[in-house]
Amino acid sequence: MDQLELLYALQQKDTELQSLREQEENHPLKSEAEELRVALENAEAELEAKRAELANAQAAQKKQETELDSLSRKIKGEEEKLYGGVVANPKELRGLQAEVKFLGKKRDDLETRILESMEAIEQMSADIARLTGERDAKQAKLADVEKKLEQELATLAERIAAVEAEKAELRPQLPAELLATYDTLLRQKHNLAAVKVVGGVCQGCRMELPGQDYDRFKRTDGIFKCSTCGRILVK
Ligand SMILES: [Zn+2]
Repeated sequence: MDQLELLYALQQKDTELQSLREQEENHPLKSEAEELRVALENAEAELEAKRAELANAQAAQKKQETELDSLSRKIKGEEEKLYGGVVANPKELRGLQAEVKFLGKKRDDLETRILESMEAIEQMSADIARLTGERDAKQAKLADVEKKLEQELATLAERIAAVEAEKAELRPQLPAELLATYDTLLRQKHNLAAVKVVGGVCQGCRMELPGQDYDRFKRTDGIFKCSTCGRILVK
């Protein structure tokens, strides 16, 4: 290989490296994993909120049941008085009857509310089971994507290391001065320093070489730069 062929081979390695690094940087699985992480956080928060709601509802129901117990004991006491034959005064008996009726109505209302609470708690438990399932599915999907991403990044890293090694073999074969020019152009010209000329057109800037330039380029064996973009031209 002559110098320019070597230089062009080096350019191809640098172009490939850039592409590999872009693939690494902008890997679609990275954004997919990020979206899944956000979705998982939201699912966790929703589940947490539902669990707190359930805990509140259970505490409220426990309170209602305690209330029901004490109300039932009170009713039982009043009924014992009413039917126990201890109270004989008709006025007092009527008062007791009214009290038992009033407390009985209160107990019925409380029992209805407890039943409603139980239904609500049942619904919340079902919601928690559903939300847990959804959260677990998101977790599994994220783990899956992360594993796949890790594998693909490892493959890319291997390929990058291989191309770097190929570059390291090519570079010492080129004169230092040419390498310095190449490296400067690489930085200045978006990682593209050495380009082919196809049909008189520079493949770096896509401009046609002026007639006399093209003739001189075809004749010369040395370093020839595009008069428009300054890149090193390769036959
Ligand atoms: Zn050019």
